[in-house]
Parts: sequence; C-alpha cells; structure tokens
Amino acid sequence: MLDLVLPTVCEECRARSVYRARTADDAPAHIPRVLCATCVGRLSFMENPGCTHCQRKLATSQAPRRCTACMRERTALGSCTAQVAFTGNAEKWIHAFKYPHQGIAGLDPAPIAIAKALARDAAQTSPAPFPDVVVPVPLHVRRLRSRGFNPASQLARAIAKQTTSGLVTDLLLRHRDTPTQTNLGRNARRKNVRGAFSCTRNAPDNVWLVDDVVTTGSTLEEAARCLKAAGAKSVHAICIARTPERFR
Ligand SMILES: [Zn+2]
Ligand SMILES: [Zn+2]
Repeated sequence: MLDLVLPTVCEECRARSVYRARTADDAPAHIPRVLCATCVGRLSFMENPGCTHCQRKLATSQAPRRCTACMRERTALGSCTAQVAFTGNAEKWIHAFKYPHQGIAGLDPAPIAIAKALARDAAQTSPAPFPDVVVPVPLHVRRLRSRGFNPASQLARAIAKQTTSGLVTDLLLRHRDTPTQTNLGRNARRKNVRGAFSCTRNAPDNVWLVDDVVTTGSTLEEAARCLKAAGAKSVHAICIARTPERFR
C-alpha cells in the first residue's frame, strides 16, 4: 500500500526509470534499483529454487533439492547460489567490476553498483541459514598486490552489511596462486586447488563464503573443506554469477 517510489537512472541504458518497492518480501529486489525493467529482463537469472548446488532445474517432486548429478559428488558446501548466468551484459559488467580501467575511467560506479546489487540479491535468494560471518574467497597475496583489490571482498562487504553479520577477511588464507583453470577438466581442477587454502584460527559455526563467478565450484569446495576442518558446521557459497554449463 505504501509504495516507495524512487526515480532512478538505469546504469545500463541510462533511461530514467521508476523503482517501486511494494513490500518487503518483494525480494530479491536490489537489481531493479540499478537497472530498468528492460535491462533486468535481458539478464538470465539462475533457476530458483533449482538444485541447491548447481542450480539446474529440478523435477517438482524431486527431494532433497539436489540434482542426481550433485548427489553423486561429495561436497563440503551446504549450498552454492549464484544470481545470474555469466553471459551477455552480466559478463560485461562483472568483467568491468573485476578489471577496472586505469585512471579516471576506472572510477565508473556503475559496474560496482550492479555487482553489489547482484550480491545482495544472491544473498536473499540463498537457502542458507543466517551466517555468523561472511568470508570472501581470498586472492593470493601476489595476485592481490598486482590487482590492488579483491573483488570478492567488496561483494562480501555488501552482503555482510545487509545481513548485519561480520565481514572476516583474515580467516582464510590462500597459499597458492592457482593458475587459471578454464582449460582444465573437473578432476584436474580439484587436484589443482588441493591445499591452496588454510585457516588462521577456528572458524565460527555458520559461514557464508563469497566469490564473484563460480565455474565448477572446485575453488569454493576446497575453501569450504578448509573452513570445516577449522570447525565450521556449515559453509554456504554465495556468488554473483555462474559460468553457463557449456563452458564448464
Ligand atoms: Zn536500462
Ligand atoms: Zn545439481
């Protein structure tokens, strides 16, 4: 009844649009605050609720909510939620967010606003219980130095703020700078990330693990294994995008 009406400018097409938040359960509702309805319509959203781990569409009667392929895999993750497919405009914006231009062009707030809106929406979509802490997947110190920032930390900060839980960036350490895994098969990727992480202290019970793009999930899986070895009871992954299946 009490419509909150905010005039906004779409970050994608610069069209003036009107954002209406009708009810609190109009969720997830952060992306319509930064993109107009047309540009939201061009994103391909992941299946929700689909398989809790790969977000494939499930037959309605299928329970528990993991697909048969995921049921065959051992996993340290309670779930893995991404908001959109890493394709089209989402891919363009996320790339701009992760690799900002040098100088003044790198200060464009649009990719950051879109990435953070996707992160907040992914957090709302997630079936995970409320977290004690929000932990970004760390970059290796060498990569962090050359990049200047960890995109996953920025997303984790936005999620921690929304859930009013603590952001913890020094619990998980990355020892090995794993080379890009795009050309590796599933088993090779798992092997590639083995022992890549360690924890600096005991982990709290419920951890949300945040990354930008999930491909096979082997990095998240290894980080979750490490957090559980450090005492976490549940680890749920929250990402903004997922690589389409044909590229995995
Ligand atoms: Zn637009
Ligand atoms: Zn699945």
